[in-house]
Amino acid sequence: MEENLPVVVIGAGPVGLAAAAHLRERGLEPLVLEAGAGPAAAVAAWGHVRLFSPWRYDVDAAARRLLTRTGWAEPDPDALPTGADLVDRYLAPLAAALGDAVRHGARVVAVARDGADRTRSHDRADRPYLVRWTSGGMTHETRARAVLDASGTTGTPNPLGRSGLPALGEERVREHLAGPLPDVLGAGRARFAGRTTLVAGRGHSAANALLGLVELARDEPGTRVLWAIRGSSPRRLYGGGADDELPARGLLGTRLRDAVGSGAVELLTRVVIDRLEPVQGGVRVHGASAAGPLDLTVDTVVNATGFRPDLGLLREVRLDLDPVVEAPRALAPLIDPNLHSCGTVPAHGERELAHPDDGFYLVGAKAYGRAPTFLLATGYEQVRSVAAALAGDRAAADAVELALPGTGVCSSDLALAASADGTVAAAERALAFADPTGGGCCAVPSGPQPVTLGTAPAGDQPLTPRGRRRDR
Ligand SMILES: Cc1cc2nc3c(=O)[nH]c(=O)nc-3n(C[C@H](O)[C@H](O)[C@H](O)COP(=O)(O)OP(=O)(O)OC[C@H]3O[C@@H](n4cnc5c(N)ncnc54)[C@H](O)[C@@H]3O)c2cc1C
Repeated sequence: MEENLPVVVIGAGPVGLAAAAHLRERGLEPLVLEAGAGPAAAVAAWGHVRLFSPWRYDVDAAARRLLTRTGWAEPDPDALPTGADLVDRYLAPLAAALGDAVRHGARVVAVARDGADRTRSHDRADRPYLVRWTSGGMTHETRARAVLDASGTTGTPNPLGRSGLPALGEERVREHLAGPLPDVLGAGRARFAGRTTLVAGRGHSAANALLGLVELARDEPGTRVLWAIRGSSPRRLYGGGADDELPARGLLGTRLRDAVGSGAVELLTRVVIDRLEPVQGGVRVHGASAAGPLDLTVDTVVNATGFRPDLGLLREVRLDLDPVVEAPRALAPLIDPNLHSCGTVPAHGERELAHPDDGFYLVGAKAYGRAPTFLLATGYEQVRSVAAALAGDRAAADAVELALPGTGVCSSDLALAASADGTVAAAERALAFADPTGGGCCAVPSGPQPVTLGTAPAGDQPLTPRGRRRDR
C-alpha cells in the first residue's frame, strides 16, 4: 500500500480531532472530514448543556501538547465546561492548530476498499481505502491508508416506539418532537413555556431536559413536565449522589430525584408508546404504563431515548460487530448495558477495536454502538492506541491505561428486571446483588482504577462478563 496516503478520520468531534493530533505526533498524515460547518458540530448542537466531567478529563494529551505550542491557555482543570465552552476554548483552537488537515462541510457517505467490494478477498489487504464524501453539492473521493470513523451517534437517535421501531405515526408528528437535547431555557424557551412536555428516556440527556423544564416552570405558569421511562424505576439515573466521583453527575441525579419527589416532574413508569397521533397544536400519545392504558395529549415530546450508530456508510467494509450492542465484538462485553452499567469501563485499545478489514476502526462514541456509557477519556485512549498501532508501535498500542471516575453506584438492567414484581423490597434486594460491595456482576474497586491490559500471562486472562476469554 502506498505509504504517502493520509489516514482519513470521519468527524471533527473531540475524539476525531484527538485522533488527528495523535496521528500527527506519530508522523502520519491525518485528513479529518467533518460534516458540520465548523468543528465539533455535534457538541455545538448541545452547547447549552454543562458537562459533568471537569476540564481535566476533557482534554486529550496529544491535543494538549499540540495546543501548548500555539500559546493556548488551558482552562482550569477543575471547572466544568458547557458544550459551547468545549468548542470555543478547546476544540475550535485544536481544529485551527491542525490547519488544512481538517475540512468542514465534508460529509462522508461511503467507505470501501479501493477496487474491491465487500465480497472480494483477493489482494484485499493490499488495497487502500476509498472514502467518498460530499461538499457544496459535489461528490469527492479520497484514497486512504487507514480510516477512523469518529462520527459519533447523535445524528441517529433511537425511535420512540417499542421493539426498536418507530411508534406508529412517529413520522407524522415529527414537528412535535424536540430531539434529545433541546435548549429549553434558551433558544427553545418559547416552545416549552406554559406548555405540556413529555420527556421520554432514562439517560443524562433526559435528566438535563427535565431539570431545564423544572426551572422554566418556576417562571412560566402552566408549564407541565411529564417523564416517561420504560423501566419500573429511575434509580439508575439518580446514580451515586454524593459518592459519585464526578460531583456534577451525582448532583444531576440528586436534583432529579428531588424534582420527582416534590411533584415538579410527574413520573410515569413502565411506559410503552405504541402510536402517536397529530392533534390540534400537539400530539396524542397512545400506549400503556404501570398505571394502565396511556392516552396523553402533550404539546411536545422530548425523545431522549438514546442513540444508535449509522452503519449505512460502512456497507462495503468487513466489520466484526457484536449483534447486541453494535460495537466491535471484543469491546461489546465490557459495555453491554444488559450486563452492567458501571461508569468504570476497562481500558481498551486497538486490539479490541480491530475489524477483519485491517486499518479500519470505529472510535469515540460510535465505537460504543448502542451502549450509553461513553466518556471522552475512553475515546482519547482508544485513538492513542490506534495511532500507535498504525505507526507500527505495537508495545505502545497494547499498553492501554485509563483512570476513569467511578459512578458511586453500580446498578444493572438485569437487577431492575429482577424487580419486575415492582415491590421496593425486591428492587432493593436486586440492586444489592448488583452493587459492587455486594460482589455482584459489575463489582469494581471504588475509586479511579488505572487498568493495564495485555501484560498478564495467558492463563490469568480474565473471563469477560459473557464468559468468553479476552482474545489477546
Ligand atoms: C449532552 C451530552 C453530555 C455529555 N457529557 C459528557 C461529559 O460530561 N463527560 C464525558 O466524558 N462525556 C460526555 N458526553 C459523551 C461524549 O463524550 C460526547 O458525546 C462526545 O461528544 C463524543 O465525542 P465523539 O468525537 O466520539 O463524537 P461527536 O462529538 O458526536 O462528534 C462526531 C462528529 O462527526 C461529525 N459527523 C457525523 N457524521 C458524519 C459524516 N458522515 N461525515 C463527516 N462527519 C460526520 C459530526 O458533525 C460531529 O462533529 C456527553 C454527551 C452528550 C450528548
